[in-house]
Amino acid sequence: MTGFNKHRIREIKAGKQQRGPVVYWMTRDQRVDDNWSLIHAIQKANETNSPLVVIYALAPTYPGANLRHYDFMLKGLQNTEKVLTNKGITFHLLMGNPPETIPNFLKEVEASVLVSDFTPLSINREWKQSVNEQISIPHLEVDAHNITPCWYASPKLEFGAYTLRPKIRKHLSAFLTDFPEISLKTPKLLTNKPTHWHNTLNWLNPFSHVKPIKWLNPGENEATETLRNFLNQKLTGYATKRNDPTLKWQSDLSAYLHFGQISAQRIAIETMKANAPQEDKQAFLEELIVRRELADNYCYYNPSYSRFSGFPDWAKQTHKIHRFDVREYLYTPQELEHVKTHDPLWNAAQTEMATTGKMHGYMRMYWAKKILEWTTCPEEAMRTAIYLNDKYSLDGRDPNGYAGIAWSIGGVHDRAWPERPIFGKIRYMNYEGCKRKFDVDEYIAQHTHK
Ligand SMILES: Cc1cc2nc3c(=O)[nH]c(=O)nc-3n(C[C@H](O)[C@H](O)[C@H](O)COP(=O)(O)OP(=O)(O)OC[C@H]3O[C@@H](n4cnc5c(N)ncnc54)[C@H](O)[C@@H]3O)c2cc1C
Repeated sequence: MTGFNKHRIREIKAGKQQRGPVVYWMTRDQRVDDNWSLIHAIQKANETNSPLVVIYALAPTYPGANLRHYDFMLKGLQNTEKVLTNKGITFHLLMGNPPETIPNFLKEVEASVLVSDFTPLSINREWKQSVNEQISIPHLEVDAHNITPCWYASPKLEFGAYTLRPKIRKHLSAFLTDFPEISLKTPKLLTNKPTHWHNTLNWLNPFSHVKPIKWLNPGENEATETLRNFLNQKLTGYATKRNDPTLKWQSDLSAYLHFGQISAQRIAIETMKANAPQEDKQAFLEELIVRRELADNYCYYNPSYSRFSGFPDWAKQTHKIHRFDVREYLYTPQELEHVKTHDPLWNAAQTEMATTGKMHGYMRMYWAKKILEWTTCPEEAMRTAIYLNDKYSLDGRDPNGYAGIAWSIGGVHDRAWPERPIFGKIRYMNYEGCKRKFDVDEYIAQHTHK
């Protein structure tokens, strides 16, 4: 089945549609293929016989972003521009804060309608609100990131995967469809000024101490290649091997998903078609769909998603009781960042993240829980874990990160466990437990500077 489900779109600013070009403000879904926002923008342009312009507004600073992130993102966007141009679609990179650049651009080109991607994170929502206050044309938001649109899957903050899963299942057949083939039929009215990409990094002048990574190449084609390799080589066995950090049996798709260089819906479609045991497909789709969309639900309906105040009441209560428990080890954020703990397993995990831009999923849980155990209070643990994760992880600054850290430190989407010091009823993890699960020495050897 193909087709555009109208519930994927919502009008976030009413207005009078003018006669000028349709403008698609690309934010979270930085790709040409399998992009519902772009599909809708093309449909709109064709319907009204208007040109289409795709814009990306590059803010001079984005919280937590550094050279590692910009390198990956800008190379991906450069490729996006090339593919769009080949399809006869104009692309503009706007330099400056979106609330300043976008309304001006819309006025300049006399835009008829604005189409944008959905994202639950606060900075992007604030930008959108400010843009909406300054424009009088309609602004349509499309959820091109989630398979079931976030607001449609559930109207409220969910307790956990067990409450969101049935809601998503109910809607999946209506949304998990093939993508329609569609091309722009309208003339290209605006001149395509090629972007001077080499000047862009100079203009941003990002914090350059965190180096770009080399083992994962940015771009839509590379994302598709990574997916193909995963489906051929690692989908079989995913259910049992993904939690062993020494095996590296995950898909490595998170950075591509974060920058929208691949569509989760495409990944799901290809996974379902793949030749692999059903239990492996199920395990992977659970992470890709339920866990990932649960993180969006958390950030969308909980404005305190990155803070202690966002934790469920039972977790706040248990932290209140245990916040003054004596810590055997106490580290400052700087000591943690510079890998100065007594625990070689934690040090290896931090090193893996700092040097490769990705920590194995299983280790992320252990890593964050130890930050709770070794810092003065849960508030500081949250701040430190988010600071480190957003700074070093290529897939950082993502709802998955905020939800994952809040799960580890604040019991979000989890339940109460037997009470113990410091953690209270928050689920505990320790070195001995890891030793029972995988070859800890092997993981340490893999990620210790020789
Ligand atoms: C403390 C902590 C911090 C985390 N920080 C991030 C982060 O910054 N960015 C990020 O994308 N994920 C984060 N996660 C979630 C998860 O660990 C990663 O998505 C996963 O390890 C990425 O690797 P992969 O793509 O190879 O995963 P795979 O196992 O191949 O999974 C495929 C996709 O499913 C989704 N997924 C998998 N596990 C989860 C999960 N637990 N929650 C939500 N979605 C999931 C991701 O989109 C992932 O790319 C964090 C988890 C924890 C516990």
